[in-house]
Amino acid sequence: MNTSTPYLQIQHLRKSFGSFTALDDISLEIKEGEFVCFLGPSGCGKTTLLRAIAGLEQQEEGRIVQAGGDISTLPPQQRDFGIVFQSYALFPNLTVSENIAYGLANMKMPRRERQQRVEALLEQIHLPDIGDKFPGQLSGGQQQRVALARALATEPGLLLLDEPLSALDARVRLHLRNEICTLQRKLGITTIMVTHDQDEALTMADRIVVMDHGRIAQVGTPEEIYQQPATEFVARFVGSMNLLPAEVLDRLSLMLGRKEVPVPMVLPVCDRGTLGFRPESVQLHNGPFGLNRDDHLVLQARLDQVHFMGAFVRLEMTLDEELPSIHVDLPVEQLHSQKPAVGESLWLSIAAESLKFYP
Ligand code: ATP
Repeated sequence: MNTSTPYLQIQHLRKSFGSFTALDDISLEIKEGEFVCFLGPSGCGKTTLLRAIAGLEQQEEGRIVQAGGDISTLPPQQRDFGIVFQSYALFPNLTVSENIAYGLANMKMPRRERQQRVEALLEQIHLPDIGDKFPGQLSGGQQQRVALARALATEPGLLLLDEPLSALDARVRLHLRNEICTLQRKLGITTIMVTHDQDEALTMADRIVVMDHGRIAQVGTPEEIYQQPATEFVARFVGSMNLLPAEVLDRLSLMLGRKEVPVPMVLPVCDRGTLGFRPESVQLHNGPFGLNRDDHLVLQARLDQVHFMGAFVRLEMTLDEELPSIHVDLPVEQLHSQKPAVGESLWLSIAAESLKFYP
């Protein structure tokens, strides 16, 4: 296949359940070998989109093209994918090897070759010795690795993962996260994973598709999504951005709570909006002297609480009683040299490039 043509093309997909629109004109292209995460809150349509790609849901409108072929109306068994669900979904009465080999039975593969494939897959998921066990004898993490091996057994062109880690405990989840990434890169298999966990999407994906109410809110690399959230919805959902309602006074100043504040950016023409900045983009100062207001937003705030977070310290601060409190994250070392007291009034500066304004 020509590498410049996308491996998967989704064009103007629509799907409703009764009067509820689950997918509203979704268009998306995924390159061969890419790891894409569908990220969004519960009910935003990410699972429905994954199921439509698998043929487990039939769209009312739109087209799906995989490897150059229109698969829009093909039943699931004629599509080229492997899938892993949240709830392992292994056959309890078949051994691990039989589970993994299940899809190979239809391929009329010689017995010996089938056995070799299963053994190779067990090696790849780092569980070489469990072929004769039954799913009930395995931990959740092991079962999910077997489900992954089963999904990969037929060497499909596309791997679909529907919240594969959310039923596992935190430690196993982190471990399996790395394993899935390593295996995906090694095999180079085009992969789509549904998740509502932003950390999972940020650490695993080449690109993230953020969904909101059946629509795509933003598509981008993890860095783009984190650093340049296109909408207030994305800013709220990904990371812990400080978001402050503001009244626009003119193109260069805002009313934040009861304070008039000059901003180092040209504001869009509108009455009000939301000012956003990340907790780690704030710098603390003892006084206002020497702060450059041409390229920094300068604010004064009261320190309310200090939370030790391990690698960093999170300060909870109030700019104005009328505004939601803000968070400021600082490296632990910084507090050794400069330890502010609760109740103290401090000066904050945020570089212009770290500010977002959503009209
Ligand atoms: P979650 O993480 O909760 O599964 P999601 O983003 O994956 O969320 P979907 O499962 O795609 O969301 O569902 C999108 C919307 O469509 C939800 O409001 C859901 O209730 C609705 N929905 C999904 N499947 C059906 C169905 N078979 N019948 C009716 N409504 C459905």
